[in-house]
Amino acid sequence: MPEGDTVWRACRRLHGLLAGRRLTRGELRVPQLATTELAGVRVLDVTPRGKHQLFRFDHGWTLHTHFRMEGAWRTYQRGRRWGGGPDYEIRAVLSTEETDAVGYRLPVVELVPTAEENQVVGHLGPDLLGPDWDLDEALRRIRSQPDRSIGEALLDQRNLAGLGTFYRSELLFVQGVHPRTPVVAVSGLPRMVQRAKLLLDANKERAQQSTTGDLRSGRRTYVFERPGQPCRRCGGPIRTEEFGPTGQERRSYWCPRCQPLSSTGGPGP
Ligand SMILES: [Zn+2]
Repeated sequence: MPEGDTVWRACRRLHGLLAGRRLTRGELRVPQLATTELAGVRVLDVTPRGKHQLFRFDHGWTLHTHFRMEGAWRTYQRGRRWGGGPDYEIRAVLSTEETDAVGYRLPVVELVPTAEENQVVGHLGPDLLGPDWDLDEALRRIRSQPDRSIGEALLDQRNLAGLGTFYRSELLFVQGVHPRTPVVAVSGLPRMVQRAKLLLDANKERAQQSTTGDLRSGRRTYVFERPGQPCRRCGGPIRTEEFGPTGQERRSYWCPRCQPLSSTGGPGP
């Protein structure tokens, strides 16, 4: 699932190709918007907000999309064959004279007045990669539910926007904190959140995410998607489980030795 840094990178690419240009074709292939015609409008900007994408147009409307698990925006030079999946998975097509931007498998495609974008992104906490980033506000929001697990708090986009299960697992390993540790028991919380921003910043320019500093295949993560494999620090087996509110359980990975549940978090490396 794409996290904040991947969305940031996709939006930067889309912005570079679309911003300032007039659409020659603009189709939204979802039932509520099937009759919407965007040809002729100019794209003002393409902006990431946490894991959301906002395409702002000069007629006062914003296209809001979200990848969730499977979505992707692909771009093609006009005339090139599209290769992001079968046609029935296409949810949006935005074309200029030079470029086709094609949105595949987007579970969220909606138009909102630009002045009312808060309807769709107003609930989000400070954006780790946004101009509004505010460490103190993110900490305030996380700490407002002290008994909740830090693993759940980090994924809640109302606390801070941009993290998913990949960064959650890696961040908690690096900090030596078990994912089920209550927020109130995490001593290094400011450091943890600052580190989250550093990790996203470091990875936002890359096609492949790495938290270990090693970009080679199979060496990019400490614990994420490595269940049963030896911990890179202590050699013990990495564990995994799903937990979270009913219906929103998400998978986590951790090293029981480096991240004991009693641990309140050390200074980290
Ligand atoms: Zn370990």
